[in-house]
Amino acid sequence: MIYFDNVYKVYPDGTKALDGVTLSVKQGEFVSIVGHSGAGKTTLVKLILGEDHPTEGSVSFDSVNLRKIKSKDVPKLRRRIGVIFQDFRLLPNKTAYENVAFAMEVAGKTDDEIASDVPHVLELVDLTKKMWNFPRQLSGGELQRVAIARAIVNQPDLIIADEPTGNLDPINTYEIVQILKKINDMGTTVVLTTHNKGVVEALGKRVITMDHGKITRDDSTGKYAL
Ligand code: ADP
Repeated sequence: MIYFDNVYKVYPDGTKALDGVTLSVKQGEFVSIVGHSGAGKTTLVKLILGEDHPTEGSVSFDSVNLRKIKSKDVPKLRRRIGVIFQDFRLLPNKTAYENVAFAMEVAGKTDDEIASDVPHVLELVDLTKKMWNFPRQLSGGELQRVAIARAIVNQPDLIIADEPTGNLDPINTYEIVQILKKINDMGTTVVLTTHNKGVVEALGKRVITMDHGKITRDDSTGKYAL
């Protein structure tokens, strides 16, 4: 589903963020990407999202070559990918329900689809009781669960979770990881970036270790070797 072929990313100031990365992620996989700060994880994610282009090498998502993608085609690609961030990025003046509904409105879904799907995904992340709360009335773990509901509601093929547990305590971290695992079990590909050794070990799934823009390890059984 995702293919990086000898990808280099050099920023205009000369920083080499990716240094010859080759990797592939198959549909249905759950892949964690680990590495110290500055290793190149965010750059990798930006290239998958089409937010930035490689300096050399190619990045593709299914048959779409992201090096050649035109800006007008990026929204179409982005609809196939749900993204979750460390800082949640919810709209503060909308309730949990409205935050999720808004993602469906933007994608052009009908009122009937919204009315049927939003409660369903909020139930999946165990937030039925709090769906009318505003973000300020929710805990960090609950905010992240709303963000997950929003990311999955349009049934993307891929979920990218960029340090999703970075602001959470261990109990909430565990819950978020279990939800991501459940989403993956339902067939969605998940790419997770994390610093958290416990998360990677609890998952027991494929782990890619990055260092200074290179992949230094690719382990299929959840080993974290930093
Ligand atoms: P990580 O997510 O693993 O912390 P990043 O991909 O953010 O790593 O960064 C990789 C390297 O690229 C770092 O040295 C960082 O300072 C640099 N970098 C990231 N974004 C930019 C940018 N827009 N311009 C210049 N350098 C950048």
